[in-house]
Amino acid sequence: MKYISTRGQDQIKGSYNAILKGLANDGGLYVPEKFSNLDLEKLLNLKSYREVAAYTIGCVFQDIEKDELLNMTTKAYDQKFSKPEVLPLQQVDDNIIMELFYGQTAAFKDFALSILPLFMQQAMDDREVIILTATSGDTGKAALEGFKDVEKTHIFVYYPTDGVSSMQKRQMCTQQGKNTHAIGIKGNFDDAQRNVKNIFSSSEMNKWAKDHGYVLSSANSINIGRLVPQIAYYVYTYIEMVKREDIVLGDTINVSVPTGNFGDILAAYYAKKMGLPINRLICASNRNNVLTDFFETGYYNANRPLYMTTSPSMDILVSSNLERLLFDVSECGAQVAEWMNDLKDKGEFQVEPSIYKRLSDFKAYYTTEEETAKTIEKVYREHNYLLDTHTAAAYLSAMRYKEETQDYRKMVVVSTASPYKFPEAVSSALGLNSELNSEELVKNLYIKTGVEVPRALSDLWTLEITQDEIIEVEAMESTIKERLL
Ligand SMILES: *Cc1c(COP(=O)(O)O)cnc(C)c1O
Repeated sequence: MKYISTRGQDQIKGSYNAILKGLANDGGLYVPEKFSNLDLEKLLNLKSYREVAAYTIGCVFQDIEKDELLNMTTKAYDQKFSKPEVLPLQQVDDNIIMELFYGQTAAFKDFALSILPLFMQQAMDDREVIILTATSGDTGKAALEGFKDVEKTHIFVYYPTDGVSSMQKRQMCTQQGKNTHAIGIKGNFDDAQRNVKNIFSSSEMNKWAKDHGYVLSSANSINIGRLVPQIAYYVYTYIEMVKREDIVLGDTINVSVPTGNFGDILAAYYAKKMGLPINRLICASNRNNVLTDFFETGYYNANRPLYMTTSPSMDILVSSNLERLLFDVSECGAQVAEWMNDLKDKGEFQVEPSIYKRLSDFKAYYTTEEETAKTIEKVYREHNYLLDTHTAAAYLSAMRYKEETQDYRKMVVVSTASPYKFPEAVSSALGLNSELNSEELVKNLYIKTGVEVPRALSDLWTLEITQDEIIEVEAMESTIKERLL
């Protein structure tokens, strides 16, 4: 099993090695050299999320034993998820909503970050692992919780102090565990992500790590170990839809995905590549609409202001995993390296028409703050279903797509977080008083809607603040050394 770098200058053998390494030496991202096809008939006979996940992951990580994978998915998708089926599907109007928020931290990131630590433990040699993570809010908490007290690991999470929701911040600041480090930075998500990548390629940091018996890895979706478990929930959803007779085996569906760093939607693209009958992938953004413009024109332009919105996990201008898609459609590492250099040096790049044509599986839309709020209000009023701010963007994008194309095949809307993670915005959308503290907001939202508060969020106020350090962006690297000495 070989993984090649999207920039063409590095490759590595073995899934576990690729997972441990995280980022390739040439600054690119690892992609599997080949994916094997899903056997849909066989999948129909599988009963649980755990089995579907083990099978799907095994189609990519072909060098890991099937039994070992099933052991890991059984451990990962256990009572940490508060729903026995792990992933409930809801019908809202004529859409199927994938509720990915019943894990430990109430966001979809739990699906990958419940299993990544298990992969990492298999991947580790005698060195301790420092796991570096940039977060726009949800990855951070899911990574901290996933790696908490995992032996010989140290998990560092950097979040933009003013760029996450009050609930997200509280979740990270109350994190327990001897090996967890949640650190606020005076910068935005792009600063956090760029510096994490810089720390990876810093020869000084690598030398320090080596001298002290550490190895660096990542829990961001730049790590292939994060991405592959996400393919499984699209497969599971499709198979469930067949079992529920929403579709018959072989029918194509569309999926609409709230998108930030492009990991979640890339997992859907990989599912399609592996033979899952997906027609269109709808890329939903907020007013940080760099991806919308890119899919419309083939020109990626990050030279624009980054807005803080009510859907903070999509407040991103440099979407890392787009690089993997570009590699897939261009099949040329040198070309990808050129685009990524342009992006780094000039903040922009342009793909040729021949490449652009190959992106036609995607349609992209963006949603303003006002439209997000209106969508939450409307869907609640008409269908008695409460969307979070990110899912609202995907929901509205799905409606736009149908209206524009008249393509009414079954639409899956990916719900990435519980609405209770963004109680200010959701309360305000419903016309409730949003000037209260988050504990009161959650309580009032519950009284108004009766929607269950996820276990992960209900005891947040009883927990003590244990981590409250805020640092300059420049201190991200030195903080690691200080904390580990
Ligand atoms: C992380 C996140 C996203 C964006 O997912 P990507 O894989 O980064 O595109 C969307 N919504 C929520 C709630 C998230 O936490």
